[in-house]
Amino acid sequence: MDKTSSITALKGVGEKTQCLYEKLHIRTVGELLAFYPRDYEVFAAPVEVAGAQPGEVCAVHAAVTGIPGEKKAGKLHILNVKISDASGSLMLTFYNMPFLKKALKKGGFYIFRGGVQSRGSARIMEQPRIFSMEEYRQLAGRLIPRYSLTKGLSDHMVQKCVRQAFTCCDFEPEYFPEEFMTKYGLISRRQALEEIHFPDDYDVLKNARKRLVFDEFFSFLFLMQKNKEFSERLENYYVIMETSDTVRFLERLPFPLTGAQDKVWAEIREDLAGPYCMNRLVQGDVGSGKTIVAVLALLTTAANGFQGALMAPTEVLAIQHFETVQTYIRKYGLIFRPVLLVGSMSVKEKREAYAMISSGEANLIIGTHALIQEKVQYRSLALVVTDEQHRFGVRQRELLAEKGEQPHILVMSATPIPRTLAIILYGDLHISVIDELPAQRLPIKNCVVNTSYRQKAYQFIIKEVEKGRQVYVICPQVEGESESGLSLENVVDYTEKLKSVLPSGIQVAYLHGKMRPADKKRIMEAFSAQTIDVLVSTTVIEVGINVPNATVMMVENAERFGLAQLHQLRGRVGRGEHQSYCIFVSGSEKEETMERLKILNRSNDGFFIASEDLRLRGPGELFGIRQSGDFSFRIGDIYTDASVLKQASEAVEELLKTDPELEHPEHAALRNYLAEESINSVDFRSI
Ligand code: ADP
Ligand code: MG
Repeated sequence: MDKTSSITALKGVGEKTQCLYEKLHIRTVGELLAFYPRDYEVFAAPVEVAGAQPGEVCAVHAAVTGIPGEKKAGKLHILNVKISDASGSLMLTFYNMPFLKKALKKGGFYIFRGGVQSRGSARIMEQPRIFSMEEYRQLAGRLIPRYSLTKGLSDHMVQKCVRQAFTCCDFEPEYFPEEFMTKYGLISRRQALEEIHFPDDYDVLKNARKRLVFDEFFSFLFLMQKNKEFSERLENYYVIMETSDTVRFLERLPFPLTGAQDKVWAEIREDLAGPYCMNRLVQGDVGSGKTIVAVLALLTTAANGFQGALMAPTEVLAIQHFETVQTYIRKYGLIFRPVLLVGSMSVKEKREAYAMISSGEANLIIGTHALIQEKVQYRSLALVVTDEQHRFGVRQRELLAEKGEQPHILVMSATPIPRTLAIILYGDLHISVIDELPAQRLPIKNCVVNTSYRQKAYQFIIKEVEKGRQVYVICPQVEGESESGLSLENVVDYTEKLKSVLPSGIQVAYLHGKMRPADKKRIMEAFSAQTIDVLVSTTVIEVGINVPNATVMMVENAERFGLAQLHQLRGRVGRGEHQSYCIFVSGSEKEETMERLKILNRSNDGFFIASEDLRLRGPGELFGIRQSGDFSFRIGDIYTDASVLKQASEAVEELLKTDPELEHPEHAALRNYLAEESINSVDFRSI
């Protein structure tokens, strides 16, 4: 068995399990091994009953002091058990476990481990697992992996498969030379893979993670440098000059460009008319107005008789751009003949789109990465704008080149990163920064609260909707997950709850990444058209959605998100003329957690926010929380792993100096690995 073997080669993986894995895009043993845990369950030492904090998972060592009652609620059997130690007592709630009434002996000592919640002024622990002292001692201190699963697949099942894979799979030889690994303090790839799944302790985990993050950054940076060499040599095949179209458009726009937009637009104009093919990144915080700049570039392209493409990371965003452009065409009489091309369109619709693209009838093509697939033949593609993602890698460049296209490339990103990191991550691009927000924006008002504030928040939401505004509510999970120990808010149940607490005139709907693209599209359209007032969602809406009428962003279980990510979410409101508000609801009442979230009140600088976040967290909290949603790295995070990123960058530089084509025999394995990565590097975030 090797990494290309189907997962059905593993014992216990039949057709049914295969289908479940398929949902997680895991088909081969290699893909299973690269399915890194989302986080780890740590069996920490038991705490005193009085110290069990709401919003936390913990273990307590206590005696059963009463079994006050059982209830039936429909099919649900509820058993309450009171436990106590010297510090106080706590109520446990068990669902559908009636046998515990006999099994738990009054006066008996056990270890109970579960999530603690507040119920009014009391605390309860829901559905805890029960251990004897001895059982718990064996688990204590271990890190048990937890995965982002789908219904029907459990952590335990995945753990078993992964263990089996390690015993049966033939691993390829290590691809980094010994000396190289010593220099950068790396353990072997094989060891790292094994230990990311089954670490003995945090130090082991840290080293495993470091190796995998290093590899990911390394291959990304290496391929990017290759891309740079390739694209720097490209002469400007499509010389594009400004026409009166953009001037007229700007005159008709109801607002002037900000100074920063103006400056960036000038830089783009210069590139388009210059001697080399454009390769430019426009960086600007959320709401800084990048779309207009892209539209200006595309408009000039069309006015010069060429085609331009606008590529978004998700269908939802692509459709939104398509609609924005259509509004502009109607309002300002722009010369665009746009066509939409996304994966969920029917074969017939796609065929029509292809025809319009190849005949040149369409001069603006908007879509997802379907835009660069082989079936699409352009007539004269002169500019590709990619929005909110920057992995326009070597492979995509090549794909276009193979079709005879050498377009200008413009990349838009909202990820605020300091210059030193930008130079590493965007080494192949020239950088423009929109460092100014449109003037009439009111600063967003933030508050960080605990769950007892919810009722007030709902009243506030009702008031805003009555004023005609719209609201986002973000939950960390899609559906209720039973295994996590802590019940986090989920989109599906929360939507039902909101429907019951808000007046029936308020339209509530939900959106999440597991929905069919057509459904996502329908919901986003309805939200834009304001037939939906409150949209409950996962972080799907984190990237790029623009509904200026939305004024409230409420985030449930805000403690589960990285602060940089919360900052991105915050950027979804405050985009229009109305005062906007963010309500961060923390499910944990720990002082540190609240303090951490309050950093969001103090700054609007995404990088400052992320670095403060890292400073305040303990080492155990660093796993499972992503700071940046914009980069499609599997495991690396540009904020958390900034130092590894710098190392990987040095390593790539060194390698390019000594053996740029990887011809030395000791680099043969590395060469194979990078070739494979290059094929896989069309790694668009699909949410
Ligand atoms: P982002 O940079 O996050 O992509 P958008 O391009 O979506 O931001 O712009 C956010 C909102 O700001 C849009 O509704 C857009 O019409 C508006 N906008 C853009 N530029 C200006 C400006 N110079 N003055 C006022 N509003 C602007
Ligand atoms: Mg945008």
